Amino acid sequence: MIDVEIIRAQFEQQYGIHPRLIVRAPGRVNLIGEHTDYNDGFVLPAAIDRATYVAARPRDDTRVHIVAVDLHDEDEFALDVPIEQSVTHPWSNYIRGVVKGLLVAGHTLGGANLLITSDVPRGSGLSSSAALEVATGYAFQVLNRLNILGEELALLAQGAENSFVGVQCGIMDQFISALGQRDHALLLDCRDLNYQPVPLPADAQIVVCDSHTERRLAGSAYNDRRDECDQAVQLFRQWYPKIRALRDISVAQFHQHEADLPEPVRARARHVITENDRAVRGAAALEAGDVATFGQLMNASHTSLRDDYEVSIPDMDALVAAAQQVPGCYGSRMTGAGFGGCTVSLVETSAVERFKRNVAAAFRQATGRDTTIYVCRASDGVGRAASE
Ligand code: ADP
Ligand code: MG
Repeated sequence: MIDVEIIRAQFEQQYGIHPRLIVRAPGRVNLIGEHTDYNDGFVLPAAIDRATYVAARPRDDTRVHIVAVDLHDEDEFALDVPIEQSVTHPWSNYIRGVVKGLLVAGHTLGGANLLITSDVPRGSGLSSSAALEVATGYAFQVLNRLNILGEELALLAQGAENSFVGVQCGIMDQFISALGQRDHALLLDCRDLNYQPVPLPADAQIVVCDSHTERRLAGSAYNDRRDECDQAVQLFRQWYPKIRALRDISVAQFHQHEADLPEPVRARARHVITENDRAVRGAAALEAGDVATFGQLMNASHTSLRDDYEVSIPDMDALVAAAQQVPGCYGSRMTGAGFGGCTVSLVETSAVERFKRNVAAAFRQATGRDTTIYVCRASDGVGRAASE
C-alpha cells in the first residue's frame, strides 16, 4: 500500500500546494470465469489491495497537467480544444480518454493539476489501466461535482479504453475497480451488469504469480477465439434459434449437440459453456463456505483453458502445476486473456510462505526464470484515500 502522506508530499513538491483530494482505485484479479465476458457470461473478479492513486487539485484555467511519478514523466493538455491522442505520452491517453468521455457526455470541467502513482504492476494483467481510468474518472467527478459513480463510472472508464486508447476490453476490469468490496469477489453478469458480492474465505489468501512472459500472440489469438465463439453461436442456432450468445447454451445442451460441431469450434464452445457453469457454481461454493470445491473448479478452469481454449503457454502451465502441488493450495489457474501474464491461486493462510518458497523454486527449475508473487487481499473499489 502506498502511504498517502508520501503522495501528498510529492504533490506539494510538484505544485507548491497540497492536493484537494487523493483518489485510490484498485487493480483486480479474476478468480474464475475466463473468456466468458464477451460471450455474455459470468466472471468472478476481486479488487486487490494494490491500487492507483490520483492526487488532484483544481486550476483556475482550462488546462490539465499530469505528473506520472512512476514513469518520471509529465504531460499537459487543454480542455477548450478537442482532446487528441498523445503519441509521445501513451500513458496519458488513459487520462485523456476519460476526460474526453466526460466532455462528450456534456459535462463542464475545470482545469486540474494531477499526480499519479501506483503499486499495481503495469502490463502484468492486474489491470493497472482500468485502475488508472477509474481513479481519473472519480477524481474529475469529485472536482466537478458530477456524481458519476458505480456502473456509470465503470462504463465511462471502459469507453475511454475502447474508443480512445483503442483496446477492446470488456467491462469486468473497470467494473470491479469501481465496485469491488473488501473480502468479497463479485459475481458479475456481463450481459446485464447485475452483480452479487460473494464472501471470500477468512483463512485463505489470493496469491498471484507473474510469469513475466511477453504476451506476443495475445492480440491475434484473442480475435480468433472471438470469431470461433461467433461461429459456435451460428451453429447452435440450428437447434436453438433464439440464442444471442454462448451464455444461452447449458452444459446439457452442449453435450446433446457437441458431436455435430466441427473442431476447433467444438472445443472453444466447450470451454466457454463449462467455464460459465464453473463461475456460477464457484460463486455458490464460496457462498456455502466450500473452498475445496471452489479450488477444484479453479483447477478444472485451467485444464479447460489449456486444452480446449488453447490460450495457456508452457510457462503458465508450469506455474499452475507447481502451485497445485503445494499442500494447502486449494486451486490454481491462469488468469487473464492468456499467452502469458499471471496465475491466480487460492491458498490456505498458514501455507502461504511454503507456497511462495515451493512455487518460486519449481518455476525457476522449470524455466530458469523468477516469478514475482503477490499475496493479495480483496479490497474495496474506488474511493477517497484522503481529502483536504
Ligand atoms: P494492465 O492493465 O494489465 O496493467 P495494460 O497494457 O492494459 O496492462 O496497461 C498498462 C498501461 O497503463 C501502461 O503501459 C501505462 O501506459 C498505463 N499505466 C498504468 N499504470 C500507470 C501509472 N501508474 N502511471 C502511468 N501510466 C500508467
Ligand atoms: Mg489493461
